[in-house]
Amino acid sequence: MPIGESPEYVRTSTAADIVLGFSPGKFYRNAVPYCINLLLYFKDGCKANCLYCGQAREVAKDAACKTLIRVEWPLRKLDNVIASLKKILRTGCSFRPYRVCVATITNPKAVEAEIEVIRKIYHEVGMPISALITPTLFHKEEMKKLREAGAERIGIAIDCATPQIFDLLRGKAARGPHRWQRYLQGVEEAVQVMNKGKVGIHLIVGLGETEKQAVELIQKTHDMGAETHLFSFYPEEGSVLEKWPRPPISQYRRIQLARYLINNEITYAENMKYNQAEQITDYGISKGLLADIIETGQPFITSGCPGCNRPYSNEKPSEFPRNFPYPPTRKQIQKIKQQLQTYKLSQNTVKDLKKYLVKYNY
Ligand code: SF4
Repeated sequence: MPIGESPEYVRTSTAADIVLGFSPGKFYRNAVPYCINLLLYFKDGCKANCLYCGQAREVAKDAACKTLIRVEWPLRKLDNVIASLKKILRTGCSFRPYRVCVATITNPKAVEAEIEVIRKIYHEVGMPISALITPTLFHKEEMKKLREAGAERIGIAIDCATPQIFDLLRGKAARGPHRWQRYLQGVEEAVQVMNKGKVGIHLIVGLGETEKQAVELIQKTHDMGAETHLFSFYPEEGSVLEKWPRPPISQYRRIQLARYLINNEITYAENMKYNQAEQITDYGISKGLLADIIETGQPFITSGCPGCNRPYSNEKPSEFPRNFPYPPTRKQIQKIKQQLQTYKLSQNTVKDLKKYLVKYNY
């Protein structure tokens, strides 16, 4: 096993690295992360080429690309990560991480390493573990091995809301190995292996899809037994999409609300109404019920596996939060209501995306 690679070593998100005591730092508004996010590492990097990712094959100058999801991911010995987790849980300090998430990259060594990292953490720490995997490498048999190793949930980062956008950013058109059909099949297999409600998909809002298209994928995967975990597109330094605009916060708010209503079976996509730009104008429930739900603030809290609140992964701490890592205040809910009622024409349609990609030879 080469020194410095997974499963012996893993990368930790900056937030996890602070919680584990490996690097100094504090959390703005005390928004501590309840999930320890880990990432596999191999010297020859990721073989995929997702155009919004700093690790993409054609842009990553070094396998340990500078940033991912806005932050650095230092390389740590897994044994040290485990020792630190045990210490935190033993001391019973006020803050206790609730979950560990082990994310793969697309590399031939990833399957074995993912299973081994999860097995080790599960046997030595026993916390709930999510396996964030790619169906390009993980089929049903490998998913069963993840469950046997101790994974409590499986996450699948579909990221794109339509087959066309998926192909443009991650598939053939992007010179990447991922395929939309294989990803949907992977969600089906994961639900068969882990059961309904124990599988989540990642959806990035703002990659060229309309609100209607995002809602339809949320409903489709919900019907398959999977929840949706939302991310608001943030341009990654060094990636092909580093100059692609972020979605208007109003667009993100409406999708957050729609996701909450669908994943809690309060409404269905087919009951919703849209304007000409396919922006949501009606959620298919009474105005009174909708107002009560908005007033709770719940729909705007980070959606993810239990405990995964991902503080400031979609915006700078100084900005008005997109994913709230804590319940929004009364004052913040007032602002959210205004955002929900704002209808700006999005600058990031699939037509814009195609024009943008041509400039980068895709
Ligand atoms: S929601 Fe969080 S814990 Fe769950 S798979 Fe995604 S990043 Fe991992």
